[in-house]
Order: sequence, then structure tokens, then C-alpha cells
Amino acid sequence: MDCIFCKIAAGIIPSKKVYENEHVLAFYDLDPQAPVHVLIIPKTHITSAAEITPENSAIVARIFEAAAVIAEKLELKDGFRIVSNCGPAGGQSVPHLHFHLLGGRDMTWPPG
Ligand code: 5GP
Ligand code: ZN
Repeated sequence: MDCIFCKIAAGIIPSKKVYENEHVLAFYDLDPQAPVHVLIIPKTHITSAAEITPENSAIVARIFEAAAVIAEKLELKDGFRIVSNCGPAGGQSVPHLHFHLLGGRDMTWPPG
């Protein structure tokens, strides 16, 4: 297992967990870009959004269900942003599908 987020999902690398169920894990980002910065990942390895297929796409729904629960739990009443960087030009640095949930400040657009 040579993937940081697979190791976090397996508990081999510690993380500050925010939410977990059978399929999904959410934990605080080590290098937060907003007052609230949570990463939501599938527990199974999918490299990026580019690898989503009809066979594995149900996990994306599970992740967004988790995001809504987390936003409620963390009281992001004014709103939040969900981002998934994909590939080198998309700014992805960890090749395990993840969604950044950012909140606690006003977001800018375009994101840059
Ligand atoms: P990406 O750049 O791929 O969109 O996002 C990867 C994110 O993972 C970055 O925001 C980075 O700070 C975070 N990250 C990388 N390694 C670790 C780690 O070991 N633990 C946690 N909690 N976050 C990590
Ligand atoms: Zn992985």
C-alpha cells in the first residue's frame, strides 16, 4: 500500500477524524487553507475524479451525503466550498480521490 490516503483510511497514518462511515472518511487537512478545511475520501482507492465510472460512481454520492452532514456538524451555516483537484494541471498532489470541504471564510472566484 503506497498511498498516503489509503494509509490514513487504514489507520496506519493518524488523522484528525471529523466523520466516518463504512465507505467514507473525513479528516482535517494538515495544511488548512480556510478556518475549516476537511478532506473527504473514499476508503477504497480511486486515483482521481478522472477514474469515476458507472461501476464506482455511487461513492461520489456517499461523499456528498457526508459533506452535508459535516457542514451541519461544523455549523457552516453561511456556506462552504467543495473542490476536487484532478491531475497535475488541476493541482492534485495526492493521487487518491478526495474532496476539499472549505468554510469559515468568504471564498473567492475564480479560484486560481
Ligand atoms: P490536493 O493537493 O491533492 O488537492 O490535496 C491534498 C491535500 O492533502 C493537501 O491539501 C494537503 O495539505 C493534504 N495532505 C497531504 N498529506 C496529508 C496527511 O498526511 N494528512 C492530512 N491530514 N492531510 C494531508
Ligand atoms: Zn489510496
